[in-house]
Amino acid sequence: MNLSLFEHCPLQCTTALEQTDIELPEGKLYRCPSCGQLLSSCTQAWYDESMQEFDNPVGTVPQGSLDKRYSTRMTNILRHAQQQLPYPIEKPRYLDVGCSSGALLQVAQRCGFDTHGVEPAKQAAKTAATIPNVQVFTGFLQDAKYPDNHFDIVTLFEVIEHLTDPVSISKEVARILKPGGIFLIGTGNADSWTVRQLGKRWEYFDITGHGGHISFFTPKSMRKLAQHCQLELKNISTKRVNFGEKKDLSNLAYTLNRIARELLALPARWFHKGHDMLVTMQKPHT
Ligand SMILES: [Zn+2]
Repeated sequence: MNLSLFEHCPLQCTTALEQTDIELPEGKLYRCPSCGQLLSSCTQAWYDESMQEFDNPVGTVPQGSLDKRYSTRMTNILRHAQQQLPYPIEKPRYLDVGCSSGALLQVAQRCGFDTHGVEPAKQAAKTAATIPNVQVFTGFLQDAKYPDNHFDIVTLFEVIEHLTDPVSISKEVARILKPGGIFLIGTGNADSWTVRQLGKRWEYFDITGHGGHISFFTPKSMRKLAQHCQLELKNISTKRVNFGEKKDLSNLAYTLNRIARELLALPARWFHKGHDMLVTMQKPHT
């Protein structure tokens, strides 16, 4: 039997999934008509194989010039999360779920956070564990068995698009967050102008290139996720649009594409149509 991974919307919508006209090597993408979630029709075997790529000592550490840009961006994001906590705390207890080889853990460590990571890929986790003063659990979040109300900030960056059950992991995050704690999710936006224009050519849909991208969120499906976990949705921000990859375009078309990207960057933010999505949720507090 070659059953695809998803028979129902993982956000637990009751409507039947519909086929889209986006055809990927592993089959057509499906769409939940209720929340707009896009879902791969790949088989479990295909998914497992693509995930193998992830387990290496280098993990997802940004290399070279990217590193400084990444570090600045993530420092701003973590500092902003700290400011959103409803209580003052100098050294927030922080967890990165799916920390890979620890690029974000290093940033958090430099911010002075009490830094923890969880990573199921053994080789990547081993590299992360070499960062001084950082605690890394090798395995899945649920197996780490952290206490209730334990963390001030939890992040899930470029992870949720790999999961068949995003609700259960997010409920676990909700359990281990302190009241008032912040949960940040970073992923692609399936409801972006980039997807509308590029369709199957959006590189984020490439399951092999990204080690198992199978589930693509929208602002609407993020709202559903927050409801399931009884977290307050504080903010959704999206940014960046792209209408063609350089390799697919002539010089002129690429120049026009760059101009369009610049012109539409701001409206894409206003209308939640950028392809990079950052979601902020908060555990209710009194
Ligand atoms: Zn749905």
